[in-house]
Amino acid sequence: MTTGTMVLQARGLSKRYGDGDSLVRAVDEVDLDVPAGQALAVMGPSGCGKSTLLHLLGGLQRPTGGEVWLAGQRIGTMSERALARLRRDTVGFVFQSFHLMDELNAVENVELAALLAGRSPRQARRRALHLLDRVGLADRARHLPAALSGGQRQRVAVARAVANEPLLVFADEPTGNLDSAATLDVLRLFEELRTAGQTLVVVTHDTRIAAVADRIIAMRDGAFADAVHAGGR
Ligand code: ADP
Ligand code: MG
Repeated sequence: MTTGTMVLQARGLSKRYGDGDSLVRAVDEVDLDVPAGQALAVMGPSGCGKSTLLHLLGGLQRPTGGEVWLAGQRIGTMSERALARLRRDTVGFVFQSFHLMDELNAVENVELAALLAGRSPRQARRRALHLLDRVGLADRARHLPAALSGGQRQRVAVARAVANEPLLVFADEPTGNLDSAATLDVLRLFEELRTAGQTLVVVTHDTRIAAVADRIIAMRDGAFADAVHAGGR
């Protein structure tokens, strides 16, 4: 089923919550193929299943039906431990609410991801400082998240997401909590990642994300409504 150039695949992917009258088909029989290097945006209104889809694709949640191949590996039958290892080694996540560790400063937040992925402390620190520099925060490396603006926190989160050199970066409404200036900063970072060939899956209801995507999928009621091919690759 899986092919070498596809870094992410889903077949019949489904997630249902509840049953009977309260049954919600949050994700309903989704098929997806994401080739290496593609920047994919999945767009749709609030409640259409974007976050659930992202969690299923990234191995953060288990489906109630269907299958996901992440980096060529079928994750449905994997143990939690093996899945956690696969996530740590192959994916990076960016969330709307940043999810930084409050008690760690910016560089520590970024280097932790590199340490967990097996870098030596020295390599991890070097990579973290390099990434903070790339996101324009070299002078904020020793600041705690509480001392950073929302846009700066999200730039730290983007640096952290790529600290393990992931095959795939997943982002869930990465600009959802940001004002428009900070949104532009973060969009620019995603544009840079795309240009560098990073495979990206971004779910959002923000049309500006479309500008950084190679491909846009519209989602409605848990399913793909239609596929629009944007410019680029
Ligand atoms: P989006 O991210 O597009 O706003 P979600 O994936 O968060 O959508 O939610 C999709 C649907 O699944 C919604 O109807 C939501 O209420 C429902 N849902 C999400 N998580 C749960 C849960 N843990 N229990 C029950 N229903 C849920
Ligand atoms: Mg959501």
